[in-house]
Amino acid sequence: MTIPQHGTDARYQRGCKCGRCIAAHTARTREYRARYATVPDKQIPHGTRTGYGAYRCRCVPCKGAEAAYWRGYRARKRAGLI
Ligand SMILES: [Zn+2]
Ligand SMILES: [Zn+2]
Repeated sequence: MTIPQHGTDARYQRGCKCGRCIAAHTARTREYRARYATVPDKQIPHGTRTGYGAYRCRCVPCKGAEAAYWRGYRARKRAGLI
């Protein structure tokens, strides 16, 4: 198994938190956000956690989907399923 080089997001994902890996991860996250930020509103999957999380949409259906997820998560946790 080859370990990704320092200064790559892949290495960061493996758990390395050195300066170069953090910088690579930050750059990649910024790029990813920028890509999503350019998506036209009608292409956002509203009413889903993808819309809320990845597209950073805060419309009512998206907020509802996020809230419903966490409601379900807490219920599963209370039931001892997590
Ligand atoms: Zn590193
Ligand atoms: Zn939305």
